[in-house]
Amino acid sequence: MSSQKTFDVAVIGAGVFGAWTAWHLAKRGQRVALIEAYALAHSRASSGGESRIIRKGYGADKLYTQWSQKSLAQWKEFFAATQQPLFLETGVLWMGGDGDKRLGQTSDTLKRCGVEFEELDRATLEKRYPQIGFDGIGRGIFELKSGVLIARRAVAAVVEDAVRLGVEYRTAQAMNPREAGPVEHITTSQGERIAAGRFVFACGPWLGKVFPDVLGARIFPSRQEVFFFGIPAGDTRFAAPALPTWLFQEDLVYGMPDIEGRGLKIAFDEHGERVDPDTQSRIVSPAMRELVRKYVARRFPALKDAPIVETRVCQYENTSNGDFLIDRHPEMENVWFAGGGSGHGFKHGPAVGEYMTGQLLDGAAAETRFSLATKDTVQRRAVY
Ligand SMILES: Cc1cc2nc3c(=O)[nH]c(=O)nc-3n(C[C@H](O)[C@H](O)[C@H](O)COP(=O)(O)OP(=O)(O)OC[C@H]3O[C@@H](n4cnc5c(N)ncnc54)[C@H](O)[C@@H]3O)c2cc1C
Repeated sequence: MSSQKTFDVAVIGAGVFGAWTAWHLAKRGQRVALIEAYALAHSRASSGGESRIIRKGYGADKLYTQWSQKSLAQWKEFFAATQQPLFLETGVLWMGGDGDKRLGQTSDTLKRCGVEFEELDRATLEKRYPQIGFDGIGRGIFELKSGVLIARRAVAAVVEDAVRLGVEYRTAQAMNPREAGPVEHITTSQGERIAAGRFVFACGPWLGKVFPDVLGARIFPSRQEVFFFGIPAGDTRFAAPALPTWLFQEDLVYGMPDIEGRGLKIAFDEHGERVDPDTQSRIVSPAMRELVRKYVARRFPALKDAPIVETRVCQYENTSNGDFLIDRHPEMENVWFAGGGSGHGFKHGPAVGEYMTGQLLDGAAAETRFSLATKDTVQRRAVY
């Protein structure tokens, strides 16, 4: 016999978006169920990496700059309150060629938003970072107060605190709701019925599988490979503060200093092939391995022969242009989506949770860019 429990809100998916949504709802006194099919920020989830960048630079895009600012404030407040040092202020260094328009736009936006940063010319870059190869690079922007979130553990910490606030967490797969109109309950793989006033599906790259009709062609999970290169023994040039978190903007390549001894992290931001998050291989491809190796030799010559000490294969959960999807289901009126992080969502977890909560509890004004109506079935990336 199936049992039934009733909640104000059921949140499905405990990645960074679901975790912060449940946390904000619980802070507002809501009775919340948080249902996760696998585990917190597990190896197949988009939030499942060890580390994620939090930067304010978004070119001319003020919205995500401001969301990053308010999210970092919340992350820091949360880590201070729970005494977990899961934000590392490594600084974030953007680099681009002389003709790179976007660096100028980033600089203007950061100024307008009051973000602390430095503009560095090539000579200063070379002096400060002798371990980097700057060919093609004319200048940089250094965000002093940005850095890295220890991602997987941060999600676990948010859920732990949400549970302390009263959220009921369980490991179970939510079965796809199939009705039009309001949904009264969902069932789980454990046979439990979860009744709630509202349902938030924060299923990341799984959203298209959960809602194939509406989102199957609107969420594009893309394969992304991540590499860690071993640092030579006793060498401190590749750890912060000597090396900050870095992005070679025009190359679409980013990475981090050696954090917790994992090695230099590097990944290509270009979208890989479309994948299924349940079944895609988590073993890196020889072709990408060679590409990354060459790139490391060019940008970090001292690591030319460094061993690859760790790899990860994850997936972005892209919308057509990179804007988040935070909106109501078009037919199930009490069902909401929170997803479409599109390779840049992690940092924004706190702001996403707060925004979702505002939508549910206050009927707050909706941001058009997050609406389902703006999500196309053809990819044209506009947010980086
Ligand atoms: C390699 C890589 C690097 C990245 N780098 C950065 C970065 O530096 N900075 C940054 O800000 N962002 C970055 N991102 C993006 C960011 O990590 C994601 O946008 C974010 O983690 C998405 O979180 P989510 O909660 O939407 O999805 P997920 O973390 O995937 O969570 C969704 C959860 O829903 C669960 N679920 C799915 N279906 C069901 C069901 N039926 N029942 C129950 N549970 C279900 C899944 O198991 C999963 O745990 C990166 C992403 C990748 C892959």
